[in-house]
Amino acid sequence: MENTVQKRTVLVVEDNEMNREILCDLLEDDYHVLQAENGLVGLEQLDAHCDELSLIMLDVYMPECDGFEFLQRKQADPRFDTVPVIMMTASNTVDDEIRCLELGASDFITKPYNVEVMKNRMKSTIRLRESASMLGRLELDSLTGLYSKEFFYHNVEEVLRANPDTSYDIVCSDVENFRSMNDRYGQAWCDSFLRSLAGTISGNLPDMLMGGRIGADIFGFLLRHQPDSVLKAALTPGEDDPGGRKFVVKHGIYADVDHTLPGSSLCDRATMALGKIKRKFNSDVAWYDDEMRKSQQQEQQIVENMQASLEKREFQVYYQPKHDLHSDRTGGAEALVRWIHPELGFISPGVFIPLFERNGFITKLDFYIWEEVCQEIRRCIDAGIPAVPVSINVSRMDFEVPDLAEQIAALADRYGVDHGLLHIEVTESFYVENPEQIAATLEQLHANGFYIELDDFGAGYSSLTSLNTLRLDVMKLDMSLIRQAAATQDYSILRFAVLLADGMRLKTVVEGVETEDQVAALKVLGCDYIQGYFYSRPLPRADFEEYLSVHAVR
Ligand code: C2E
Ligand code: CA
Ligand code: CA
Repeated sequence: MENTVQKRTVLVVEDNEMNREILCDLLEDDYHVLQAENGLVGLEQLDAHCDELSLIMLDVYMPECDGFEFLQRKQADPRFDTVPVIMMTASNTVDDEIRCLELGASDFITKPYNVEVMKNRMKSTIRLRESASMLGRLELDSLTGLYSKEFFYHNVEEVLRANPDTSYDIVCSDVENFRSMNDRYGQAWCDSFLRSLAGTISGNLPDMLMGGRIGADIFGFLLRHQPDSVLKAALTPGEDDPGGRKFVVKHGIYADVDHTLPGSSLCDRATMALGKIKRKFNSDVAWYDDEMRKSQQQEQQIVENMQASLEKREFQVYYQPKHDLHSDRTGGAEALVRWIHPELGFISPGVFIPLFERNGFITKLDFYIWEEVCQEIRRCIDAGIPAVPVSINVSRMDFEVPDLAEQIAALADRYGVDHGLLHIEVTESFYVENPEQIAATLEQLHANGFYIELDDFGAGYSSLTSLNTLRLDVMKLDMSLIRQAAATQDYSILRFAVLLADGMRLKTVVEGVETEDQVAALKVLGCDYIQGYFYSRPLPRADFEEYLSVHAVR
């Protein structure tokens, strides 16, 4: 079998020709061997090949330049530090050996040498040197000279442990839109920009102890605790690049850090502060504060409790009726999750849904909710309560499930629920991220008889492309639209949206309708359904059934 591992290169420096030939023959199989007949030639070889050399085998006594002089001159040049040397000495020359070791030789072998012993010593010398230089490489980021991420975290922890009574700050600095800078100005410029930025920030920060590169364009710094005003002044942006290139650097600070936390958590806190001012004008520095601490604690509690809560059925489905303006009856409902935890109390979906979307738990929860909904529709039908279509919310993450459409269909079929009674709510923002897959899944759902509702239309994301490309049945107009229209008494955007939906043969649902005046105005505009507190808040299952018995068409 071919050996794919490249042979390492060894330099043999030996004046006795016969000895040199024998040695080279012995090593030929395992190494790529370079030769030199004296120290001077050896130094030339070293100079020419130092990057590829793994080891030097060096004779002590040679004409021109002997082994000692070779070592001395090698030591003088830091480029050669990484190449280890094994000395070849005659027996009974302890003094020589000591001198060699003092001059930086790694090991020695005595002539006449035992071939196996020699080969093993060569191998272990090379391995030792390589693992040491590997460590060196990982410790520092080669571009900026700051610590690499792991070493930064580790060294920060060491400092905090050793100085329990000193307070420290962590600063994390982030270059905004670094990726587009790379495209615009080229990698070479961006590399040198990052290098000089690392230098500038470390230079400006008072009492700076160490810095690390903790992301492609994020640096972390540890410094002795400073007053806010001092840090603010130190981190105020300087001039743009003289070449006219624009860049924005933001700094998040976790002040007076908790000494017991791991380095990565300290930096998480500083970058959390960064998040607050991302893409915000006129705000370059932000501190991790009590509000963030609380929301972090809450997130932690949520994550610790979510699985058990799901098992204990502490997530409940509430149903908010959709009023059909044409028949003046309830024409549908939206299923909305509620989490009422015995100790944590009521937690708003606005808090836990975004978190579950980040940690992936949303898909588990959604499947649970959808099953509850199917069971509820089945129960209504069996109890003779007029069943209406119920829409379920499908999250962006849910589309990662490869056979999502089949799974939803299978779920409905398990409870004998007509597919027309299950509507699927999706938001446009997913479409922007993953258009082909979303379009294909919606197409499949539609072909399976499910209705598709486009949620939150007009909430900032709207692109007419998605309207044109996705298979939709209903357009839900975001509650910001009615709110704004009611406040300004200007319904022109809503009118336009209803016209647009009509033109595309989509039904309209207006969300967040709270007053009779709003209902009257929407009737004039010709919209189809209204969902809002004016008709009903989201209701627990039993109340919803009662509501249906009164307000739905039989
Ligand atoms: P959404 O899908 O836009 O749901 C409508 C939200 O508006 C609901 O908030 C509802 O309670 C609220 N709402 C309805 N009518 C009115 C009104 O007249 N006035 C006001 N002020 N609010 C009204 P909720 O239940 O807090 O849900 C918030 C968001 O959480 C939902 O927005 C949805 O994006 C998400 N969500 C809720 N349940 C689920 C679920 O089971 N799965 C997924 N993936 N997301 C869900
Ligand atoms: Ca919705
Ligand atoms: Ca909505």
